[in-house]
Amino acid sequence: MIFGVRKRSQTLRMAPRAMKSSITLCFLALCFLLPGASVFAQEVQSPGLRAGAATSNITPEIGGLIVGGFSPFPSTHIHDELHARCLVLENEGRKVAIVVCDLLGAARQLFDEAARLVEKECGISREALLMSCTHTHSASSALSDNRYDTVSTGLTDYQRFVARRIADGVRRAVNLLRPAEIGFASASVPGQVFNRRWFMKEGTVPPNPFGGIDKVKMNPGYSANLVKPAGPTDPEVSLLAVREKGGGPWISVLANYSLHYVGDVGPGEVSADYFGVFCTRLGSLLGAERQDPPFVALLSNGTSGDVNNNDYSRPASPRGPKYSKIQAVAEEVAQAAAQALTGLTFTTEAVLDARLKEGRVKQRRPTPEQVAWAEQTLAQPVALGKGSASILPRAYAERFLKLKNAQPEITIPVQALRIGPAAITGIPCETFAETGLDLKARSPFRPTWTHSIAGGYFGYLPTPEQHRLGGYETWMGTSRLEEQASVKITDALLEMLSQMSATP
Ligand SMILES: [Zn+2]
Repeated sequence: MIFGVRKRSQTLRMAPRAMKSSITLCFLALCFLLPGASVFAQEVQSPGLRAGAATSNITPEIGGLIVGGFSPFPSTHIHDELHARCLVLENEGRKVAIVVCDLLGAARQLFDEAARLVEKECGISREALLMSCTHTHSASSALSDNRYDTVSTGLTDYQRFVARRIADGVRRAVNLLRPAEIGFASASVPGQVFNRRWFMKEGTVPPNPFGGIDKVKMNPGYSANLVKPAGPTDPEVSLLAVREKGGGPWISVLANYSLHYVGDVGPGEVSADYFGVFCTRLGSLLGAERQDPPFVALLSNGTSGDVNNNDYSRPASPRGPKYSKIQAVAEEVAQAAAQALTGLTFTTEAVLDARLKEGRVKQRRPTPEQVAWAEQTLAQPVALGKGSASILPRAYAERFLKLKNAQPEITIPVQALRIGPAAITGIPCETFAETGLDLKARSPFRPTWTHSIAGGYFGYLPTPEQHRLGGYETWMGTSRLEEQASVKITDALLEMLSQMSATP
């Protein structure tokens, strides 16, 4: 079986009503005997949806390596703080927690450690804790050096710090649980998402680092040789709105948009990119920026593995000052979200459910010819001053040799949460837009959306059709999972969604 259901606990069972009312009676009896316990009794008496949200600062120290590009370099400035943004929902004694971290990606071991702390301190199981990364490229590494293997070499100091801060954020959100109501909305922002993989005129795709010619080129730049993008985009901004029961103050908004990142940050600067600006801006558009407890917005990265903010169908406009593009994208997405949230219908009823599967997938392995190419490439002297023409072959040669020695098959976590009529899926990869659109179309839940880079980081996830076209995202080392991985992951998620939809 490729995708086996992990046996230890896949389904969170809701306490039967009879059991719940007898527990309530016991609490009431206890409260009658114990002075000072009446608030707790009141909470047990009035169940229904509750929600709490909080943020934890996860900014790395200056000097840590910024990891967005091929050659990491030390940070010299913090432009804006990085956060783990946490939302906890509770209904009928069952909790689900959603965490979005301002990181490029995070090793599975980091999220496993955070989950261990959250389970121990908050009683929220791994299945019900969906943690993901925004994919900001101006962050320090929370990935593992041995990212091609799952054997733990222990956590770095920064990974341990982030795990601790995630657990603290969830705990603070639990501390802030209060009667709540939720609503769902959707906006469309098509003007900030562009498929970055392009078909080009015959004979004009430049050679890849291995000396071959792909059928498509990633980030080709504006050129008369471009034919058409190689895939779709998903312009939807999906929104879960949470406020205090009875039309009270905002608690949180979880948004999801399928844009890789923006990236016009200053040199050596740590920044949460447009994800952070969006969260602050949405708070002010909703008039919620000076609340106590604070309003918490989260912006998760959808399925943007092949989608960025560069429109190559027309010549690039002159670059503005640093962060101006980040501000402009955040403003447009926040305005669209705020607009979609007006006149929303809220409900205090929402079935909460969660599933986690450990999927077994093969890792790609270099052929003997590819190993020979890698060894030859690394044996040559480093050519200085030739930019990526020199960096890329060496970088991929190193990745090839790591994959040669990596485990042939690994286990990756895939997750699904149900929140009333909606579902959120979690995939630990840079997922392509078409996979997200496919899940939205085939899910029994409306709305459905996906958090990419969730629960770990296992590289790009092109579909089998995109693998056949080649290009950066499909190169072995950028993509490390077998070519059928997106199909297997989608099937596993749809099976989990179908199981959860059986509950009314
Ligand atoms: Zn990426």
